[in-house]
Parts: sequence; C-alpha cells; structure tokens
Amino acid sequence: MAKSKTDPKTLKPATRLIATGRDYSEHGIVSPAVYHASTILYPTYQALKERKQTYQYGRRGTPTSRAVETAIATLENGFASKVAPSGLAAVTTTLLAFLKPGDHLLMVDSVYAPVRTFCDTLLKNWGVVTEYYDPLLAGAVSAFIRPSTRIVYCESPGSQTMEVQDVPAIAEAAHKAGALVVVDNTWSGGRYFNVFAHGGDISVHAATKYIVGHSDAMMGAVTCNEATWPRFKEGYETMGQFAGPDDMYLTLRGLRTIDVRLERHMKSAVRIAEWLKTRSEVDEVLYPALPGTRGHELWKRDFTGASGLFSVVLKPQSETAIGQFLDGLELFSMGYSWGGFESLCVPFKPYRTAKPWAREGTCLRFHIGLEDPDDLIADIKAGFERLKATS
Ligand SMILES: *Cc1c(COP(=O)(O)O)cnc(C)c1O
Repeated sequence: MAKSKTDPKTLKPATRLIATGRDYSEHGIVSPAVYHASTILYPTYQALKERKQTYQYGRRGTPTSRAVETAIATLENGFASKVAPSGLAAVTTTLLAFLKPGDHLLMVDSVYAPVRTFCDTLLKNWGVVTEYYDPLLAGAVSAFIRPSTRIVYCESPGSQTMEVQDVPAIAEAAHKAGALVVVDNTWSGGRYFNVFAHGGDISVHAATKYIVGHSDAMMGAVTCNEATWPRFKEGYETMGQFAGPDDMYLTLRGLRTIDVRLERHMKSAVRIAEWLKTRSEVDEVLYPALPGTRGHELWKRDFTGASGLFSVVLKPQSETAIGQFLDGLELFSMGYSWGGFESLCVPFKPYRTAKPWAREGTCLRFHIGLEDPDDLIADIKAGFERLKATS
C-alpha cells in the first residue's frame, strides 16, 4: 500500500504521479504485480450468482489494470480511465461509444491521420456524418454545430502542424448545443494540459508516446468526467476492449518518470527550436512554446509546459536535398510514433479538407529525445550543410 492517506488529487502533479495507483501492491513490493488473467474463480455458488466480487473475469479488470487506470485518471485529474490496446483504439472506442447513425461529428482538420481514415470509412458506412473544421476557429466553431452534432473533437496542438486550439471557447460553443467535447491530449503527455479544467468531457491519449515513454509498447487511454463515464464504460465493455498486462505494466512504469522526462524533453526542444529559428534554411518553426510563434499566447494561457515534439517548415528545397539531409542524420532517426528517449525527424505533408495547407516548403517534424542538445544541434547543422551542398 502507498503510505499516504491523502487524496492524491490534493497533491501537486509530480507527487501525484508517484503516490497514485499503488493501492494494490502487496507484501511491501513497490510496483503492483503483473496479473495474467482470463478465468477468475468464485469461491461459492452464492458468490457466482451474486457477481459482487471485485474481480470477475480477465477482460473486466485485474489489479494490474486497476493500478494503471487509477494512475492515468490521477494524472489527468479525471473521474475514471480505461486503457485500450493502442491510441487509435482509444479514439475509435470513444467515438463508437457515443455516436449513432444520423449523428454529426465535428472533427478538427489537423487530426491524427488514421482517425480521419476511421471517420471517412467505418463511421461513414455506419451513417455518422463527419465534418472537418479549421483548428484555429475557437468559438466560431458554433457556426458548424447542427442539432445532430453529438461530438466536437479536438487535438491540441495538432501532432504535426502544432495549432493550439482554444478548447475552453470550443467547449462553451459545444455545450451550449448539447454536444460533448473529446480532446486528444497526447502532445502534453497529460502532464501539461488538463482537459477537464478547460471544458473537455473526455481526454484520449496515445499512451504509446510519452506515458510509456520508451518506444516499447502500444497503449491507449481514455479518461472521462463523471457525466460521460457510464456511457463510455458501457461501450468499452460491450466492444470487448482491454489491453495486455505486460503493456499495462510498462505504461504504469513509464508514467512514474514522465515528469522528469518531459522536463528534459522540453528544455532541449526549446533550445533546439530557438536555434532553428535563427537558421536561414528554416521558414517557420511550429512550436507554441516559443515566444512569437503561432499559438504561443493560447499555449501560455492553457498549458503548464511543452513536450519535445515540434515541426518546422523549410524554405522550398529539392527532393534530393531533403533526402541528403535526412539520410545523413546520425542521432535523429526516421520513424513514426514519438515520446521515447530517442530523437526522431520525419518529413510530412499536411492533408487538409476544411482549409487547404498553403505552404510550399517541406515540413519536418522533430522529436527531441534525451540526448545532449549540443550533439543534436551539431547533427542538424551537418544536415543543413548537406542540404546547401545539394541545392
Ligand atoms: C500516435 C497517435 C495516436 C495513435 O496512437 P497509437 O498508439 O499509435 O495507435 C493518436 N493520436 C495522436 C495525437 C498520436 O500522435
């Protein structure tokens, strides 16, 4: 048992992350056991009939899932959480739990691309109408809200193009019309943005990224407020969602150190982004933590920190030059996902339908890992030299 009798919600965030989800460790062992479970036994016929025991069936919860779900709910300051086998599963399960044929879904245009695919295929086939809105609309999103709008979905900042959304203004417009607000909170790690304090009803996460933090497990998490919890939980259980116990354990283990990891990611990312801002190869740095950058004011108002993920728009370059830049990098690798200890750099082309992406230059997304920023800067600098030599 954790020694503290204090309600974790009254503690400061860094303390909360250590104190939470430890009510299930027995024998004084610090971390909870990894329970591999399907069958859970009932001691008597009476107990079987009553179905009142805490654990009933593997998929319905184990001490391991309880520990990680409690910890995530604490991190997010929400009512309760559930985990899913991936971030994408967390999103799709949430949408399916609340939407029905004929409903209208207002989806942010900067959303994580596979969520867009889900909306444009499966949801569409099931009679849900998805409409995309400009991430920078704020309260003006109300012009798009219909009587059938059930959910207004945000992702802030967008995980490629980094638009910070005015979630409180969007939530006010949505709630006025009786719609729910779902926020993908992956970028902040759950540590630097509180969805519920800013009017959101449900927070979804690719815990795969910063919460797991070591690029070694896939995990999704959904946290609800009290009002949305019963409907979400019913949908989650009806769809047979759960996650593997070893991955849950890695998620809980990652969560314990997210505070110190994020601090380092942020410190190095700010330094590198500031340096990139001075480079002639770079047209624009997209990182709301930097003063003077698009979204900085909203970020300052609503976030308590920034993670290590940002993008840049380069001045137009040839494909060959971009290839030379990327292929020669030694410390930055190319790969999707992010939030681990390692630095990454990938090119991307924003896909938009609500408002076209008008920029010409190649976009690069950097994830700044836990390496020394001096070494990372030297790696990018050598890349720019290759770029110059090729163009
Ligand atoms: C990666 C990601 C997801 C999906 O998470 P997976 O665990 O890869 O399925 C969802 N939203 C955002 C913002 C992401 O970056």
